[in-house]
Parts: sequence; structure tokens; C-alpha cells
Amino acid sequence: MVPSILPTYNRAPLHFVRGTGCWIEEADGRRFLDLGAGIAVNALGHAHPALVKALTEQASALWHVSNLYQIDKQQALADRLVDLTFADTCFFTNSGTEAAELAIKMARKYWHAKGAPERVKILTFEGAFHGRSSAAIAAAGSAKMTDGFAPLLPGFVNLPFGDHDAFAETMKDPEVGAVLIEPIQGEGGIRTLPDTCLKGIRDLCDTTGALLILDEVQCGMGRTGKLFAHEWAGIEPDIMMVAKGIGGGFPIGAVLATEAAASGMTAGSHGSTYGGNPLGCAVALAVLDIVAEPAFLDDVARRAGQFRQGLEGLVASHPEVFEEVRGEGLMLGLRCRLPNTDVVAAGYAEEVLTVPAAENVIRLLPALNISEEEISEALARLDRIAHRAAAAAAA
Ligand SMILES: *Cc1c(COP(=O)(O)O)cnc(C)c1O
Repeated sequence: MVPSILPTYNRAPLHFVRGTGCWIEEADGRRFLDLGAGIAVNALGHAHPALVKALTEQASALWHVSNLYQIDKQQALADRLVDLTFADTCFFTNSGTEAAELAIKMARKYWHAKGAPERVKILTFEGAFHGRSSAAIAAAGSAKMTDGFAPLLPGFVNLPFGDHDAFAETMKDPEVGAVLIEPIQGEGGIRTLPDTCLKGIRDLCDTTGALLILDEVQCGMGRTGKLFAHEWAGIEPDIMMVAKGIGGGFPIGAVLATEAAASGMTAGSHGSTYGGNPLGCAVALAVLDIVAEPAFLDDVARRAGQFRQGLEGLVASHPEVFEEVRGEGLMLGLRCRLPNTDVVAAGYAEEVLTVPAAENVIRLLPALNISEEEISEALARLDRIAHRAAAAAAA
């Protein structure tokens, strides 16, 4: 008999009931150190007072009106994001997947409006993840996500990761209208695209006019120590997808775009009943107030340095368990020699939450305001996890 929840997830037998900062409490009273942050979502940890305040104040005033009316908090959030980024305009969604949908639609509409409707092809990269809608799985192209869901939305060309020659060759195709890429792949195993690659991609997009769409759903919102990961490469996209951290745990996403890239999106061309609702926007404004502060981002970079150094030591002292450290800022991964799911399970036994990813990686995506002491505690527990996993493998 099918369980009452559709069994598309393999869930751990853990029932969390409350959390504060980087700590989350199981129903049986155990306190776990949360290095997953709900998959890079709880950017400021659990129950951050400023976020609780923003949410509860808005909850007692107004929840929802629809986009048939002006929503002042949505306007304020859009103005703030436009101020802080390359973008001239924003559309708010409820998730990263919905942001991917709009980004793809926007690129196609752009070329249609420009009188070049043949430029429908969008280049994507092996190992990518852009969500689970029909368009997003077609974009990522992996068999694991697409199997059984044919016919897939056509027009995506999936290229090897980090192979600039293959990319340059494909860009010669006059039907290519856009390139869609994560500056750091999350689900794909914390794979960083080198800055020089991102710059090379930007240059070729400039040459052919193709739009550069960055998926910063996981790597954005301060996670790398800059507000958005592409800032490290000194380039700007034409369109960017944001979600996860921007709501600090409240479901909200966004597509940010330049005026030119958004030029096809006229009244009636897209919509969302809930997108940009007062609750989500109130919380996202509170998140931005904290995360966009330069001093906060400097702290993220400092903590990241501490964490990374400790992780390098951990890999050196447990070569039978760990192979390498990956990632940037507080978007870190440990490539494992033992099955990554066994290492995640050893983490549960040591009361630590980590998140598996492709390429046998475990992800470490803590709240961005994790303290120096908590990172030391994380490293101590990861050392115990390594001992435990190695002992279990030897048994
Ligand atoms: C999580 C994720 C998405 C999808 O976001 P949802 O909110 O789960 O729909 C898209 N792109 C990237 C890079 C992600 O990490």
C-alpha cells in the first residue's frame, strides 16, 4: 500500500520539533548541529529573532492579496535587489523551480520579441540542477531526473562541465539564445566553475548576443562571502535565479534581470498567484537587511576560511574516509571514499546534519551566521563521524 506521503524521498527517521540558530532539536530531546540548514535555506539559522519579528508582524497585518494590487513590501524588496545587483527588474516566485521556469521563458520571449524566434536553444551543463519541473529537468538533462517523463521540453543542449572548447564550438550554432549555469553546482557535488570559465562564458555570450542566465538559487545570498557568487568573477549575468537563502526558511524565490533581457515580458506574459506575497517579502527584506551588510559578508568569508582550514586537516587525518574539500565560502563539500550516505548516517549518530550530493560528496551548508565556536564543534564532531564511519566500514 502506498504511504500517505508519496514516497519520492528516502527520509531519515528524524523528527525535528524546534530549532535555534545552528541547533535543531529532535522530538526525543537530542540537539543536532545543523550543517545542512534545510539545504542552504535557513541562511540565518532557525528562529532568528529579526525574521520571526518580520513574519509575525506581517502575519497579524496581511497575508495575501494577489498581484492584482500593489504590494508595498514586494516593491521595497524589488527596489532593494535592484540597488544591490546588476538587475533592473525582478519577478518573485515561491521556489527555485519557478524561478527556472521564468528564466527559461524570459530567454525565449526575448528572442521572439527581437524577431529571432529561431534562437530557442539554451546551453546547460552536465551535473546541473535547476529544479524538478518539466522544463527544469529537461534543462539539467540527467537520466535520474528525466527517466519516464518524456516527451521532454526540447531546445536544451547539455555540455560537459568545464570544457571550454566544447562550449565555444556549440556557441557557433546560430540557434543558441542563452546559457544557463550554476556558478557553483550544489546537487552536482559542490563543483565550482573557475572564475576564468565564467568570464570566458560571459565573453562568448557578449560576442553572440546569447543571454547569460545564472542559477544562484543555492550559491547566492551571501553563501560565498559575497552577496552573489558571480561577483567573485567580476562579471554580471543578464538573468539570475534566486531562492533558498533569500527567504531564510520562508518559501520565496526571484528572477532578476536587466531591462534588455526582460524586454519581452509584457503585461499578461507571466504570473503567479502567491509570488511576491506580503509574508515572503517581509521576511526576505529582513534577511537582506542582515546578509547584504558588508561586515556580515566579511564574517562569512572569515568563518569560511576557518571551516575550510579545519576540513583540510580532517581530510589529511582521515584519508580512508575523505578524499578532498570542495566549494567556496560556506558552500562546502567533502568528497568521500566511503559511500556518502554512510557518512551522512554516521553524522546522525553524532548528532550532526549534513546533506549528500552527487559525486559521493557530503555538503556542509551551515547558517551563514554560524559562530567560531560552532565551527570548532562541527570539526570535532566531523572527526568523530570519520572514526565512526571508518569503524563501521571495517566491521
Ligand atoms: C534547490 C535548487 C533549485 C530548485 O529550487 P526549489 O526551491 O527546490 O524549487 C534550483 N536550482 C538550484 C541550483 C538549486 O540548488
